[in-house]
Amino acid sequence: MPIDPRNYPPDWAEISHRIRFERAEGRCECRGECGHAHPGGRCNAPHGVTVYRSRTEPWVWRREPGDGFYPVKIILTTAHLDHDRQHNDDDNLRALCQFCHLSHDRLHRGALERQRALEAGQLELEMIFP
Ligand SMILES: [Zn+2]
Ligand SMILES: [Zn+2]
Repeated sequence: MPIDPRNYPPDWAEISHRIRFERAEGRCECRGECGHAHPGGRCNAPHGVTVYRSRTEPWVWRREPGDGFYPVKIILTTAHLDHDRQHNDDDNLRALCQFCHLSHDRLHRGALERQRALEAGQLELEMIFP
């Protein structure tokens, strides 16, 4: 079987559990990897708990409901910063809540698309013919 970066290793469940619940102590470890500035520097959203996110700044959450905040149950996941699921060194892994994980993926996807467009010469064309 060739190594495929889209495949998780056989011991992924153990790795992911250790990162989320031992290292991260059940809280989102994002320090801006999602592209947003969390109050206090780290997201810290707690796994399994319903918190209230700001509608205008969804990287901001609090414990109490209120105007402009919507409830969401936090699910911690383990993200690969370089999106290579075979690269499981601790410094490539982050326990991220679903908001940070999706935002991180979106950032990364944007970078990949820009890279592909560059390779195809599309960006240069857009600069010549805006
Ligand atoms: Zn988070
Ligand atoms: Zn974040």
